[in-house]
Amino acid sequence: MTRTVTVVGGGLAGSEAAWQLASRGIDVKLHEMRPVVMTPAHKTDRLAELVCSNTFKSTELTNAHGLLKAEMRLLGSIILEAADTARVAAGSALAVDRGVFATTVTERINAEPRIEVIRDEVSDIEGPCIIATGPLTSDRLADAIRARLGTGALAFYDAIAPIVSRDSIDDSLVYRGARYGKETMDGAGDEGAYLNCPMSRDQYEAFLEALVSADEYHGHEFDEVPYFEGCMPVEVMAKRGRDTLRFGPLKPVGLRDPRSGREAYAVVQLRQEDRGGRMWNLVGFQTRLRIPEQQRVFRVIPGLEQAEFLRYGSIHRNSYLNSPAALSGHLSACDDPTILFAGQITGVEGYTESSATGLMAGINLFRILSGEAPVVPPATTMLGALYRYMREADPKHFQPMNANFGLLDDLPQRVRDKKQKREMFAERALREIRSWIDTNSIHGTVATSA
Ligand SMILES: Cc1cc2nc3c(=O)[nH]c(=O)nc-3n(C[C@H](O)[C@H](O)[C@H](O)COP(=O)(O)OP(=O)(O)OC[C@H]3O[C@@H](n4cnc5c(N)ncnc54)[C@H](O)[C@@H]3O)c2cc1C
Repeated sequence: MTRTVTVVGGGLAGSEAAWQLASRGIDVKLHEMRPVVMTPAHKTDRLAELVCSNTFKSTELTNAHGLLKAEMRLLGSIILEAADTARVAAGSALAVDRGVFATTVTERINAEPRIEVIRDEVSDIEGPCIIATGPLTSDRLADAIRARLGTGALAFYDAIAPIVSRDSIDDSLVYRGARYGKETMDGAGDEGAYLNCPMSRDQYEAFLEALVSADEYHGHEFDEVPYFEGCMPVEVMAKRGRDTLRFGPLKPVGLRDPRSGREAYAVVQLRQEDRGGRMWNLVGFQTRLRIPEQQRVFRVIPGLEQAEFLRYGSIHRNSYLNSPAALSGHLSACDDPTILFAGQITGVEGYTESSATGLMAGINLFRILSGEAPVVPPATTMLGALYRYMREADPKHFQPMNANFGLLDDLPQRVRDKKQKREMFAERALREIRSWIDTNSIHGTVATSA
């Protein structure tokens, strides 16, 4: 069995992957290009540097990020151990001192004899390896990835529209239907794949007013996306003229409301995001509004007054793969299971999600090298549900995804109380991941060097 592998990128995912491999007896060459080549966002040469906020979000099991962390702890995450060491007071959130956190990860990796940290920029791909180079993957490696996986496989910017939960949409105000009855997708049935929020002229004007006066997020200079028509923020479109949205994403033509038999003044459309129909995407609503502003402004839309946001909109620089089209179920090249990808480059979004896929990549590369099949947890767990999303999402509309309860398999029974429902999700997820760990002997493989 090969005992040496390459991990590219010493960020959150790469550090976690390298640790998982080393702790199972595999020698790792961990390539990190900093400080030889810096990214536009990182400031230090430390491994696992947090480029922006200092929080891994909630630890509560009734929060999607809290549940994901609980699952990762059962799998022995070094990133979460380091976060515990560096923790600062922040209520139920796992917030850290950035410096202490990155130093802890760096020291532990440096002290692990099976991991050799090499400071250089990797520009080609050779298995067995895990590529975890993140949202700011260097240009030369990005070229190699495109050459290996196909030109359309890697995007450089994301333009994300918010997703709301189906449960939170007011059915008395919206209707199902496709424009001219034509747009359909698998499983949508005759009614069409869209939910439509019709607006009167007054409602449209009120929405426009809220939108154009809302507060926008201004990030790093390198993050300023050169907008083209396909990813124009909805607020920028709205500022171009009072009718721009009505002739663009909110166009009402061909969308007759079956209840009145008439077309509305404007219509916001929501497209089904997942097979289970729990997650609905506001079509054309990519945005740079601040998160509280997204809640305030988009809840002005009729039918979305109580909307629960599962993902917020954003637009930033982000190298990420179209995983459903370009990768296998365990996030490897389709024609070589030993070339794995992990972290934000796979289309997950966020510190915790990136670390979690690094953890799984390390476990799976070890399994493959040991002659075992790669595995992913069931979609009743947050980790497994994220993997399912990256495997089964519609490649035509694929955009990065964070942990959220809309990704999980439904409970067998309908539960109205939101808190109780989340408690039941969490209880089931932890039970099932424990059983999955036992079945696949994941914890049984830890080697003596750990
Ligand atoms: C400006 C910015 C702000 C963000 N803010 C947040 C936030 O507040 N909260 C949040 O949850 N997420 C945030 N994110 C997303 C965040 O980057 C990810 O969640 C997380 O860092 C991804 O982990 P990763 O390991 O995939 O990538 P990274 O942590 O970025 O690690 C990738 C590593 O690969 C290295 N690398 C790149 N190319 C090469 C190469 N060719 N050879 C060798 N090494 C290479 C890089 O130097 C880097 O160290 C932000 C992203 C950006 C760009």
